[in-house]
Amino acid sequence: MEKKPFVTKEQVEKIAASIPTPFHLYDEKGIRENARRLKQAFAWNPGFKEYFAVKATPNPHILKILQEEGCGVDCSSYTELLMSEKVGFSGQEIMFSSNVTPAEDFALAQKLGAIINFDDITLIDFYKDIAPFEPVMCCRYNPGGDFTLNNEIMDTPKDAKYGMTREQIREAFLKLKAYGVREFGIHAFLASNTTENGYYPKLARILFQLAVELQKETGVHIKFVNLSGGVGIAYRPDQPENDIMVIGEGVRQAYEEVLVPAGMGDVAIYTELGRFMLAPYGCLVAKVLHQKHIWKEYVGLDACAANLMRPAMYGAYHHITVLGKENAPCDHKYDVTGGLCENNDKFAVDRMLPKIDIGDYVVIHDTGAHGFAMGYNYNGKLRSAEVLLTEDGGFRQIRRAETPEDYFATLDFSDFE
Ligand SMILES: *Cc1c(COP(=O)(O)O)cnc(C)c1O
Repeated sequence: MEKKPFVTKEQVEKIAASIPTPFHLYDEKGIRENARRLKQAFAWNPGFKEYFAVKATPNPHILKILQEEGCGVDCSSYTELLMSEKVGFSGQEIMFSSNVTPAEDFALAQKLGAIINFDDITLIDFYKDIAPFEPVMCCRYNPGGDFTLNNEIMDTPKDAKYGMTREQIREAFLKLKAYGVREFGIHAFLASNTTENGYYPKLARILFQLAVELQKETGVHIKFVNLSGGVGIAYRPDQPENDIMVIGEGVRQAYEEVLVPAGMGDVAIYTELGRFMLAPYGCLVAKVLHQKHIWKEYVGLDACAANLMRPAMYGAYHHITVLGKENAPCDHKYDVTGGLCENNDKFAVDRMLPKIDIGDYVVIHDTGAHGFAMGYNYNGKLRSAEVLLTEDGGFRQIRRAETPEDYFATLDFSDFE
């Protein structure tokens, strides 16, 4: 499938007149429409709720849009909890799915009334001395082994640091029950960035069966099953795309086959999607600063891996469009790089693109999740602005770019003055 940017050259020129590149740009219309599709796909489940994974795109303006579409938030740290509180999320609109959790994080989560998801059985006794137990609490499951779909290994839970073993989760439920917890959630995240519609249905079936067994073994009431994140997107133009309606229907079938016959037709389905909610509705807009011709052809941008780490970190593919040259033939081969003193600072290697000129604007696609969020300050590079393309076709800066003052804010130079 052809990948088209959600922004035109003319729009970018207009934005860049007041907000210099590079910046991450988000498409409000796309975000809202997608959130509504997800809601529709799970409309068969009256308790359904998406808890957007804040870590994917931690910006209050984005969280507000999702809140207006009926989403809650999934937090994993103290500052994510604070941000969510400031946006106006409270109580069971907040899921707290952390690991290696500091005491003050648990204390704040409990104070906000968040649903606390225990990553490990030892955390229950750790928590006991910090805050009171809540009527609704959740435990994270790790079945070990490999997670396979159609005989293919999708991920390896046995090597993942998250969650409790089967024996531990039973014990954890009994422990929590003894501490007065009345309703329980089960959570698992077993494969990342999946692009097969079968992931959620298979995971759901595993967790539904576990829910039936645990309800029998421990006598607790299971309130929800949290399918967490992991539904991916097609970063490559030739990749298949998920169909969220098919996914929702697959989960419904597992629900009908496993939970309903066990008399558990009141279990709510929760999700904690990040990538699926935001990745395609954000892009990194950058400008071509330099070109060099040595053993290969290089195009140097004003953005670097500090603005988008995924290609450097995972060798991840991000599609690139040269604005104004959407229909030109891709007959030039380039490495598209940033300016870090790191040879892996390449947004693309041997990529076929139209002939590029200095001053061209490029759109790096699908950076709306785990894009800006993974940014860092290596080489003294500063984090970029974030801009929202509003539904009416206008734009709004939703985070300013960092300045050198921000970079120096944690240092004290008084010894050198
Ligand atoms: C990262 C994460 C998510 C979101 O994952 P995506 O791949 O962005 O959907 C959800 N829940 C937890 C606990 C996570 O760590």
